Amino acid sequence: MQVLERSDELAEIAQSLQRSGNRVGLVPTMGFLHRGHLSLVERARTECDSVVVTIFVNPLQFGEGEDFDVYPRDVQGDLTKLEDAGVDFVFVPTVEQMYPEPVAAGVSGATATTVLVRGISELWEGASRPGHFEGVATVVAKLFALVGRCRAYFGDKDYQQLLLIRRMARDLLFPVEVVGCSTIREPDGLALSSRNVRLSGPERRAACVLSRALLDGARDVQSGETQPHSVVEKMQRIVLGEPLASLEYAAAVDAWTLEVPEKLVGDVRLIIAARVGSVRLIDNVGVIAPTTAEVSRIQQGTFGVCSVEDRELEPVEATVLVGVGQAGEQASGVAGVKSNHQVNRQER
Ligand code: AMP
Repeated sequence: MQVLERSDELAEIAQSLQRSGNRVGLVPTMGFLHRGHLSLVERARTECDSVVVTIFVNPLQFGEGEDFDVYPRDVQGDLTKLEDAGVDFVFVPTVEQMYPEPVAAGVSGATATTVLVRGISELWEGASRPGHFEGVATVVAKLFALVGRCRAYFGDKDYQQLLLIRRMARDLLFPVEVVGCSTIREPDGLALSSRNVRLSGPERRAACVLSRALLDGARDVQSGETQPHSVVEKMQRIVLGEPLASLEYAAAVDAWTLEVPEKLVGDVRLIIAARVGSVRLIDNVGVIAPTTAEVSRIQQGTFGVCSVEDRELEPVEATVLVGVGQAGEQASGVAGVKSNHQVNRQER
């Protein structure tokens, strides 16, 4: 495994890999790697000839007063994990390599050129963290420009980010195929995140309230609830019941536009952001709302909703039985997609 620090080295290596016909897999991260990151690496490993992982805590995507300074870092530990995972190249640039002009945390301290993906950047995470997605799009555009033609792997865990990157790659004509990968979870449902290490014992136990709220909301959608506000109220009540958590937003949105629809139909995404202690966590789950005909069959007992808990809270991937939209993927409801946290439905 070769560790690169300079952006010109990365560009040269990527070009020479492409010239010799290698399919390059790119996995951008901020480091402090866990099994979620490594699942992206594994997928890249199986689908590509050479895997490039990047580790960069990008100051531009952190707002003032956010956790840039205390974001967990362990580059040596990360390199060991990546070596074990069979990665070929790791790019660990300095801030100066990525931003040749001086840059402070946040887009207000940015250099003149940034990438703004309008619309989607303003919703949910974008509204809660002004400038965040401009920082994300800017750094990912730089990585795409350096690496060139590749498949780039991103987690469903950051679902809005995945949609934004896909949009950016398309709009800016990057020769990059953006691949969405399912969320890896702890046995109690908590989505793996580098930030989880900052939770105290009681906070860690409280943090699974996010996935609980999502699953309960998803079950309601699956049972035929079509009113976004009813689903959201359910999620809010669950988070309110956990004294260590404070909800920032919970929403039931169209999986493609992230807008709140009048009625929940087709691909739906339930999204949530909450603080547990001082740690801000986000999570989401995809579910396909049943059609009116399916709802009446559910009521008659002829259309089965399979038990969500057993399957959904497994830490390892479980095969979805029928038509669950992994909305992070290109198309809607693909039979047999793999996911560990999507709501399943099953014809009886
Ligand atoms: P980060 O280091 O948090 O910027 O994450 C780097 C990549 O890993 C992003 O594409 C994330 O969506 C993805 N990722 C983070 N957590 C998970 C998880 N629990 N399961 C799968 N992918 C994840």
